[in-house]
Amino acid sequence: MIDLRSDNAYRLPSTMLANIITERLGRLQGGINDDEVVKELECLAANITGKQAAILFPSGTMANTAAVYACTAPGEHVLVDPDIHVYRSERVAFHPDFGRRVPIFYRLTQQGTPDVEDIGQLMERNNPSLICLENTHNFAGGICIPPETLKQISLCAHKRSVHIHLDGARLFNACLALGLSARELCQHVDSVMFCLFKGLGAPMGSLLCGEKTWIERVRGIRKLLGGTIHKAGVIAAPGIYGLQNNMERLKEDHANAQLFAKILKAKAPSAKLVREVQTNIVMLDISQSGQSSEKFLDELALRGVLGKAKSDNLVRLVFHQCVSSGDAEQAALAVADQINCCSERRGTK
Ligand SMILES: *Cc1c(COP(=O)(O)O)cnc(C)c1O
Repeated sequence: MIDLRSDNAYRLPSTMLANIITERLGRLQGGINDDEVVKELECLAANITGKQAAILFPSGTMANTAAVYACTAPGEHVLVDPDIHVYRSERVAFHPDFGRRVPIFYRLTQQGTPDVEDIGQLMERNNPSLICLENTHNFAGGICIPPETLKQISLCAHKRSVHIHLDGARLFNACLALGLSARELCQHVDSVMFCLFKGLGAPMGSLLCGEKTWIERVRGIRKLLGGTIHKAGVIAAPGIYGLQNNMERLKEDHANAQLFAKILKAKAPSAKLVREVQTNIVMLDISQSGQSSEKFLDELALRGVLGKAKSDNLVRLVFHQCVSSGDAEQAALAVADQINCCSERRGTK
């Protein structure tokens, strides 16, 4: 089975496991304590993103939520797009029983990037405390926000002292696709979250990076949310390994997503991608198939490929370290068969 449901649908490779046990946990046993390993990871994260400080969280959802809480009070306005992870998937910061922040929606352009003009007008009218961005944008299909757009948003937000938080769950995919360092990309935002357990290949953990005093405030919020991790060296050690060793590897995921899209287009000309592939995500619009995403995926699974339904007519396929180029090719053929089979069925109806 080729599992393209998510970029965390990987088994921990033996290189990672071996490194956790020998080098890193060896250091723990050698008298370096958990706190020191966590501190090393947090310093590394701050350094990579060009921020003053960083803090480790058990999940990306908790890190994003803490970021929203650290910038806003209940009832205050937060600019988000309707398909952003922090709103569409996480929700907690906006939930009436929990965060009670009020979402104000900005548009995404045709290209899937934030509409700067719309954001400017919304800031003018709604007096928000915070704007959330997502780079790469998952639901838009792994789309990158280019630095010029970030810069324009930052000019507009900082004029009004609006904090910019970036959900960079896939920050390094964006860096790779844009040809920029994380530092360059993050200079336009006040805080950034990235995940260790996606393309970087670690077992768990997310880092939230920002200004020193702000991160201190976040540290208090993390405790309130139950996010203190005991014996966190076990998580931090593979995180350091992932940051130091797996950044380059993301190239392969991007190349495999491209290869997949190329073969799919050749074999099933009626296949429709929501947008051109920029990173490791392929978002298929299957509304022509006459099937719901769930049904489409059930049949695709019989052809040996797993994907994820993102709406009634959107299917997401994600490329990660356990998917080889051969798998990408095979998956493209399977998806093409499935699409061609659907259109034949519709043709004969
Ligand atoms: C994975 C992901 C997160 C964090 O997810 P958790 O499961 O809560 O760790 C946040 N934002 C985006 C866009 C993601 O893809």
